[in-house]
Amino acid sequence: MEYGETQQAGEESFEVLILGAGFAGLAMAISLREQAEALGLPPERVAVLEREDEIGGTWYVNRYPGCACDIPSHLYSYSFARKPDWSRAYAPQGEILDYIREVAERFQIREQVRTGCDITSARWDEQAARWRLQAADGRRFSAPFLITATGGLSRPKWPELPGMERFTGPTLHTAQWDEAVDLKGKTVAVIGTGASAIQLVPQLAPRVGRLDLYQRTPPWIMPRADAPIAEWSKGAMRKLPVLSLLRRERLRWVNDIRSVAFLHWTGFMRFARLQAQAHIRSQIQDPVLRRKVTPDYDVGCKRVLVADDYYPALCRDNVHLHTGGATAIEADGVLGADGERRPADVIVYATGFQATRPLPVGVVFGKGGTDLAAYWGDCPFAYRGTTVAGFPNLFFLVGPNTGLGHSSMLIIIEAQARYVRELLRRSRAEGVREIEVKQQAEARYNEEIQAKLGKAIWASGCKSWYITEDGRNPTLWPGSTFAFEQMLAEVQWDDYELRSGAQGSRDA
Ligand code: NAP
Repeated sequence: MEYGETQQAGEESFEVLILGAGFAGLAMAISLREQAEALGLPPERVAVLEREDEIGGTWYVNRYPGCACDIPSHLYSYSFARKPDWSRAYAPQGEILDYIREVAERFQIREQVRTGCDITSARWDEQAARWRLQAADGRRFSAPFLITATGGLSRPKWPELPGMERFTGPTLHTAQWDEAVDLKGKTVAVIGTGASAIQLVPQLAPRVGRLDLYQRTPPWIMPRADAPIAEWSKGAMRKLPVLSLLRRERLRWVNDIRSVAFLHWTGFMRFARLQAQAHIRSQIQDPVLRRKVTPDYDVGCKRVLVADDYYPALCRDNVHLHTGGATAIEADGVLGADGERRPADVIVYATGFQATRPLPVGVVFGKGGTDLAAYWGDCPFAYRGTTVAGFPNLFFLVGPNTGLGHSSMLIIIEAQARYVRELLRRSRAEGVREIEVKQQAEARYNEEIQAKLGKAIWASGCKSWYITEDGRNPTLWPGSTFAFEQMLAEVQWDDYELRSGAQGSRDA
């Protein structure tokens, strides 16, 4: 069926629009391109709209010194585009970005991508059964199907500290890095000690004059065991691709075993705590500093981090760790929880992302003009992380409750891309005008996973970006990657309404 009949003047019309050209958006575009004939969906009828001026998503945006992946590269890559020659066990940001670019070229996706396309509104047009999108620069697009692949961690979070606007020096955020700011020899305040900060601090410490690190809650950190991959190993994987497959599968199983610990945690996590405490003892001699960096919550409650160079960086003479966090910002420095005012030339916010509010209010509007972000409030939900009742023909990749604390998001992304492709295949094959998940199915699914999440380690009492103020968890998938794949292996068509005909008459 051709869906392009109701194009408006000045609007570019497509069959499918994908928002975001990061790992998820590109996987989706590749998946549709690979099956273009079977789907009757030529690549030129599918566009990928990207806000930035280059593809890569989080790996293009996050460019702070030290940025790297904390999931091993042989697992943090597409299963259909394994790379035999990763330079290290954990690849740095630049190498991951190069990989994404190379894959986009190889699968000819670049020609489908519109960069610099910041979508400011996406509205469901009920009469025409199309999504109508408006970009910040005035461009307009429409398509019957919209797939959002904008990532769960793409809106930087700034703390609400009094006086932030009064600071006169440069202000950076790890997710909005500006290479032009010269940090050499400067006094730099870093606020936050999450995954981004622990990668950044070891890189900044030798370059700056003094580094004041404001820690509110210490993270649990495990040894990283990162190392360059030997040339002979790369050569062997190039010659025998099955070796990279075996390596990937081994990593996947080892990581997935941890998901059991996150859900039924006690024994395993006690062992993990001993390991993490030993890591602190082996890298820090000063008992005061050891105490400061030792968390008082269970391992796994917040994201478990991996680093071998963070604790040694804290031991440097020019690095000073202040507990209790930053409480206010002044024109020339930071006020710590201990009441001390410390001057700073530059402030770096390593304060993370708005994970429980991945979408701002006023952007996505479904049936009856319902605003998706307002409808979600601070606890987004989606049936199988992919569809939301009231928002027909809208599919999410990396949607609510698809995040992982233990393994590679690429596995989740590929499973969702296959699932969405199947929703599209049947809709197109049968001339379905609207496909929408049933509200009861969505509510049942949401209840089930919230019940599981309520018993998991993430609900054991700490505060983290995984959970809302009132303790609900809209971010994580409570299980293994295998369980996620299995859930999405088949579409439960009874959970969907498929409507066809001009008025969207009900079919199934
Ligand atoms: P984050 O984990 O949310 O960390 C934010 C930090 O800011 C926390 O330590 C938080 O303390 C702190 N903070 C907030 N307000 C503060 C204040 N007033 N004073 C002092 N500290 C304050 O953010 P992130 O480090 O950017 O990481 C977010 C996620 O991105 C990670 O968990 C991970 O999923 C992803 N990431 C991945 C990689 C990778 O290698 N793959 C690298 C970076 C990030 P509290 O803990 O007390 O809230």
